[in-house]
Amino acid sequence: MKVLTTIADFRRERAAFGSLGFVPTMGYLHQGHLALVERARAECPAVAVSIFVNPTQFGPNEDYARYPRDTARDLALLEAAGVDLVFVPPVEEMYPPGFGTYVIQPAADEVLEGAARPGHFRGVATVVCKLFNIVQPTKSYFGQKDAQQTVVIRQMVRDLNIPVEIVIVPTVREADGLALSSRNVYLHPAQRAAAPVLYRALRAAAERYAAGERSGEALRALMREILAAEPLAKPDYVSVAHPLTLRELDQIGPEGALLSLAVRFDQVRLIDNWVLEPAP
Ligand code: AMP
Repeated sequence: MKVLTTIADFRRERAAFGSLGFVPTMGYLHQGHLALVERARAECPAVAVSIFVNPTQFGPNEDYARYPRDTARDLALLEAAGVDLVFVPPVEEMYPPGFGTYVIQPAADEVLEGAARPGHFRGVATVVCKLFNIVQPTKSYFGQKDAQQTVVIRQMVRDLNIPVEIVIVPTVREADGLALSSRNVYLHPAQRAAAPVLYRALRAAAERYAAGERSGEALRALMREILAAEPLAKPDYVSVAHPLTLRELDQIGPEGALLSLAVRFDQVRLIDNWVLEPAP
């Protein structure tokens, strides 16, 4: 496994490979990230992973400075997972003085994470576009955990004609349903015990949908009710949205829907989602 910190070095090593699978991450790796790596390993002759805590996707009052980091541990996990190339650039390598071009999707900034975190998707789309240009992958792997991110990346690839295939991997969860996240380490024990309420709310709404409910508001109300029973959980948003436009739905139609939640436990903000497949 080669570990590269500059774009020039990465490009030089990358040239020795043909088709490449790519997994962009912010590090502090867990089984969710490793599921993406395993899928890439299974589908591609070689695999590259990036570890970069991207400052442009964090708001001024967000957790950029304290985002958990452990590169030595991450590299050991990636080596054991059979990764070929790892790109770990310092911030100045990705954003040198004078940097001034961004990828923006105004529609994404109006809903869900985009509305809650101004500038977040500008940062995500910009860094992923740069990483695609540096890594030149055949396929790139993203987690369903960040549902709106998958929509933003697919739209960017389509709109900017980027020659990469996007693969979405299902969310990996703890035994009690909590979606794995690097941010879970921030949770105090009582918050950790309360955190599976996101999963319970999503699952209850999915069951109600399976039983025939098609009202978006009825499903939002059900999820709000379940969250309200957990005093440590403070909902940020509760959404039943169109799976592609991510606009809130009054009625769920033939395309199905995306259920999604953002919930605060004090300073810790968790997100999770569930895809309601189109009715047969
Ligand atoms: P991050 O390091 O949080 O930027 O995540 C890097 C990639 O891993 C993104 O595509 C995430 O959606 C994905 N990911 C994070 N958590 C999970 C999870 N629990 N299950 C599946 N994929 C995940």
